[in-house]
Amino acid sequence: MPTYEYLCQNCGYKFEKFQSIVQDPVSECPVCSSNAVTRLVTGGAGVIFKGSGFYETDYKKKKAKQKTTKKSNTKKEKK
Ligand SMILES: [Zn+2]
Repeated sequence: MPTYEYLCQNCGYKFEKFQSIVQDPVSECPVCSSNAVTRLVTGGAGVIFKGSGFYETDYKKKKAKQKTTKKSNTKKEKK
């Protein structure tokens, strides 16, 4: 069962609720009873963050390798 995050636009109250997909979303704020409650989208973003982190590590490794090659080239030129 997914956890849904809700934010009341009226009083700014943020709360989470365990709900099944077939259940109706919360439309009333438990604090001020206003109907200005919006469901926040959570999850999914974490997966994207993991992917970009992997690519960054790969890019750093490549850069380090290029630096080493350049150094050895300079040595040869000095000879
Ligand atoms: Zn509220």
